[in-house]
Amino acid sequence: MLNFNFQNTTHIHFGSKQIQVLSTEIPLKAKVLVVYGGGSIKSNGVYDQVVDALSNHTWFEFSGIEPNPTYDTLMKAQAIIEKHNIDYILAVGGGSVIDGAKFIAAAAHYQGEDPWNILAKQEPVTKAVPLGAVLTLPATGSESNGNSVVTRDGNKLPFSSPLVRPLFAVLDPNVTLSLSDRQISNGVVDAFVHIIEQYLTYDVNGKVQDRFSEGLLQTLIEEGPKALQPETKEDVDVRANIMWSATMALNGLIGAGVPQDWSTHMIGHELTGAFNIDHARTLSIVLPAVMKVRKEQKRAKLLQYAKRVWQVESGDENERIDQAIKLTEQFFIQMQVPTRLSDVDISESDIDLLIARLESHGMIALGEQGDISLAISRKILTQAL
Ligand code: NAP
Ligand code: FE
Repeated sequence: MLNFNFQNTTHIHFGSKQIQVLSTEIPLKAKVLVVYGGGSIKSNGVYDQVVDALSNHTWFEFSGIEPNPTYDTLMKAQAIIEKHNIDYILAVGGGSVIDGAKFIAAAAHYQGEDPWNILAKQEPVTKAVPLGAVLTLPATGSESNGNSVVTRDGNKLPFSSPLVRPLFAVLDPNVTLSLSDRQISNGVVDAFVHIIEQYLTYDVNGKVQDRFSEGLLQTLIEEGPKALQPETKEDVDVRANIMWSATMALNGLIGAGVPQDWSTHMIGHELTGAFNIDHARTLSIVLPAVMKVRKEQKRAKLLQYAKRVWQVESGDENERIDQAIKLTEQFFIQMQVPTRLSDVDISESDIDLLIARLESHGMIALGEQGDISLAISRKILTQAL
């Protein structure tokens, strides 16, 4: 196992009716900016629950944070922060709203030329407005990590700081019942790939992390399809298991002390930036190709994955690995997401553009070994056609 530091300070409030804890979790003297997306929280009753819980607080609101939040939209929130001396941000929504809130929180105290440099130049965040989250879409883990992804002019870039980790997160699985099938699928697949990025690398004898990862992967494989099937889609226990898996997938625990890949995400970000494909749907296309192209580098872990996650035990090594990759693709198909670039009308002639974008974003040495060059990314994209 590698050396690691691990601290996760987000206070999780999990279960039915937990939104009411906002009344005590956010200091009464705070001036709160509630940020949300396109209005799903108004039609599913979450907004009303938040308003009830904040009845003794002073609060303002900013809506319209879009999926794959943009710099331009988020900068509009800065004016409200300044005007009302906001000193607490409450994000109510999915990963986009929470990621957007993190950027707003960091940008509010940014001293340099342009807060975009927090992403473009990876300038460190030195201070941020404290924030909390009410999660409505289990997927990203953003509710208890310090990561955020923001898009400007089609450039989708990440930043990370412990200062933007939510102080608390409310996870009520009931609020996920209003999600469309597409968003459920996206969430399950995103969480699945987050686990894979931290698990499917090379062996460093991180037995605890491996067992946690394998348990989470198996839970998503079991519960994910149930959230799409008519007989089980209203089952709150199914939603609860998906929600907690997605949080555990990216709260730092399973990634502590083990190598991490993230090449699927970095290549996927270019597909979203260039072609506006849903985040999770880029991952379901790229991951099988990464597994195939990186088979030798990931051999030991692919064999472990085949055996422990998919119970594949027969055949020689290559057959077992191929079978595990096939089962992964079948799981994605069962979750109703694409597994090929051709499924989303992207062809060989688009690969040059994607490679140029990777290069312009400095994504030239990806993967757990930093050895996925642009040439190998090209192989991965070609494999994904
Ligand atoms: P999302 O973009 O936050 O939300 C997608 C859609 O789902 C929105 O239209 C939203 O509507 C709707 N929605 C959310 N909750 C709903 C509910 N309970 N009922 C009905 N509709 C609901 O999706 P996401 O997958 O959570 O976030 C994706 C973003 O997170 C991407 O930008 C991705 O790059 C980023 N990401 C971040 C991390 C991280 O660690 N921070 C990790 C991976 C990915 P409204 O707009 O009306 O709310
Ligand atoms: Fe993701």
